[in-house]
Amino acid sequence: MNAPNAPAGLIGLVSATAAGRRARDRLAAAWPGAVRVYGTGGEGGADGADGAGTVREAVTRAFAECDRLVCFLATGATVRLIAPLLADKADDPGVVCVDEAQQYAVALLGGHAGGANDLAHAVAEALPGCRPVVTTATDAAGVPGLDTLGLPVEGSVAMVSRAILDGEPVRLVRHHVLPLPALPPNVTEATGNATEGDGGDGGYTLLVTDRAVAPGDRTAVLRPPTLAVGVGASRGAPAEEVAALVGQALADAGLSPLSVTELATVEAKAGEEGIVETARRLGVPLRTYPAGELAAVPVPHPSDAPMAAVGTPSVAEAAALLACGEGAELVVPKRKSAPEGRAAMATCAVARRRPRGRLAVVGLGPGARDLLTPRARDELRRASVVVGLDQYVDQIRDLLRPGTRVLESGLGAEEERARTAVAEARAGRAVALIGSGDAGVYAMASPALAEASADIDVVGVPGVTAALAAAALLGAPLGHDHVSISLSDLHTPWEVIERRVRAAAESDLVVTFYNPRSRGRDWQLPKALALLAEHRAPHTPAGIVRNASRPGERTTVTTLGELDPAAVDMMTVVTVGNTATRTVAGRMVTPRGYRWQESR
Ligand code: SAH
Repeated sequence: MNAPNAPAGLIGLVSATAAGRRARDRLAAAWPGAVRVYGTGGEGGADGADGAGTVREAVTRAFAECDRLVCFLATGATVRLIAPLLADKADDPGVVCVDEAQQYAVALLGGHAGGANDLAHAVAEALPGCRPVVTTATDAAGVPGLDTLGLPVEGSVAMVSRAILDGEPVRLVRHHVLPLPALPPNVTEATGNATEGDGGDGGYTLLVTDRAVAPGDRTAVLRPPTLAVGVGASRGAPAEEVAALVGQALADAGLSPLSVTELATVEAKAGEEGIVETARRLGVPLRTYPAGELAAVPVPHPSDAPMAAVGTPSVAEAAALLACGEGAELVVPKRKSAPEGRAAMATCAVARRRPRGRLAVVGLGPGARDLLTPRARDELRRASVVVGLDQYVDQIRDLLRPGTRVLESGLGAEEERARTAVAEARAGRAVALIGSGDAGVYAMASPALAEASADIDVVGVPGVTAALAAAALLGAPLGHDHVSISLSDLHTPWEVIERRVRAAAESDLVVTFYNPRSRGRDWQLPKALALLAEHRAPHTPAGIVRNASRPGERTTVTTLGELDPAAVDMMTVVTVGNTATRTVAGRMVTPRGYRWQESR
C-alpha cells in the first residue's frame, strides 16, 4: 500500500552524491512503501561517463523495475544513462531529475503517459524550496493533453494535440455527451449531421465515440466509458470461446472494445476461468451480481437454461443492463458462441449507459491560494463550466483552463445559480459550482443538491471553512465541542436564531458566528453576545477575525465583555470561547476537556 500522499506505482530513487542521498531519504520518508532505493551512491560517476558503473547499473535496474524514477543526477547524466534503455512512450517509466541543490524537479521523460509531470509536482511538494519544471506543451499552455483526460484515446493523438495547442481549427465531433474539461476556442463543436473521421476537408478532428472507426491521419478518437458487456458461460467454457464471442459481438455491432468499462456476470460465475480471462484480455474489471438481482431485470430474451443452472432467466442481458444503471440501452441482444462441432458454452450481450454529466461542488477555502486544496484545483481544471458568485470566481479565475465557460452572478441569486449548475450538468457537461470556504457551509451545495436528480454524478470537494481559518489564527479555540451559527436573519427567522444561541449558551459550546453584522443588521450581534453572557463570564476569551487569509487580514483576541461590535462586519467571523477557554500568550485555548469531571 502506498502512503496516502505518495504518487501511484513503484518509484525508483537513484542518487550518487551525499546531497542526493539526503534528498532521496527525505522522499523515502515522505512516501513509505512507495519507493525503492537504487545504488548505494558510491563516489563518482554522476556524469554518466566512464567509471559510472554503479550509477549506470542503478539506473538500468530502476528503469526496468519501476513505474517511475527520480534521479538525483544532472539532466545530462541522466539522458546519457537512459538513452540506451528507451523503448516506447507507452511503456517507458516517467523520469524526473532533481538537481544537486534540490531547487528543481525536472520532468525529463514520459511527462503524460509515464506520469513524470505529476511526479515532478509531487517531488517539489515533498522537498522544501523545490519547484517543478514541466515542459510538455499541453501542460504549459493550460490545454488538457488528450492523453490526460482519463479516457482511452487513439488515432493521431500527437498531431491533433499539437493542432489544438497551435490554435489551428479542430472540429469536435461528439457521438456521446461526455463531461469533458474546457477545450480552447479553436476547438469547435461540429454541428448538424457530422460525419466520422476526417470530414474530407483536410482539417483536424477530435472524435468522441464508442463506435469502431478507422481514424484518418488527422483524427484523434476519445473513447467514452459507455459500454458494459454481460456474459454467461457453462462450467469449463474455454477462454478462447468467451473472448471470441465478445470480440465478435462488439465487431458486428461496430463498437470499440476501448469503450467497454466492465465485464458483468452472475455471482456464481465469479471464478469461471473463461470469463475471468476474457475480462483480463479486455483490460476491464469483472463485476458480478447475485442471481436475484439479475432475475429482477426485465430483458428481451429470458430463457429456462440459466434459470435452472444459476437461478435467473437471464445472465448476459441482465448483467449488461445492470452494470450500465438507470436508463441503459441494450445495444447487442443476447447471442451465443458458435464453436465448431459442439454446443455453444457462452452467451454475451452489450449495453450502453445513458450519458451523465458531472457536478462538482467545490469549496475554495477562505481566500489564500495555498489554502485551496489540490483536489479543488483539479476539479476547477476538469470543468468546462464554472458557476459561482463573481467575487469567488475572481478568487480562482487564473486557474481555469482557457475556454472555460464562466457563469457568474451577484449576491442573492443563489437559487438561480444552483438551478443553472444542475441544468448544465444534466446537459452532460462537467460543471464546477464554487463557493468560498466549504461549499456546503452556508453556501451553494444544499440548494444545488436539492435540485439535482439521480441522473448526474455529483462530487463534493471539501474546503477550509472561515471558522477553521479563523480558529487557526486565534489559537486553539475549537479544542472542545463547538457550533457555528449564522446571524443572518434573511433566510432564517430571528426567533430560530435566538433559540439556537440560547441553546449553545446553556450547553457551554464554543460558538463561531458567521454573517455576524452588516450595515442593515447591527443589533443581532450585540443581542447574541448578551445571550452568551447570561452563561459565561465577561472575561471569557473571544476572537474577531476579519478577512482570514485574505488581504487585510486582522485578528483580535479580546473578551466577551469587551468585544466591540463596531469592529465586526460581513467579512468577519466572531468566535466566543466556552467557560473553560483561556487566553495563553495572547492565544485562545479551549482545553480538550479530558479531565472535565475532576476539574468541576
Ligand atoms: N462557505 C463559507 C461561508 C459563507 S457565509 C465557509 O465555509 O466559510 C459568508 C460568511 O462567512 C461571511 O459573512 C463571514 O462571516 C464568513 N467568512 C467567509 N470568508 C471569510 C474570511 N476569509 N474571513 C472571515 N470570515 C469569512
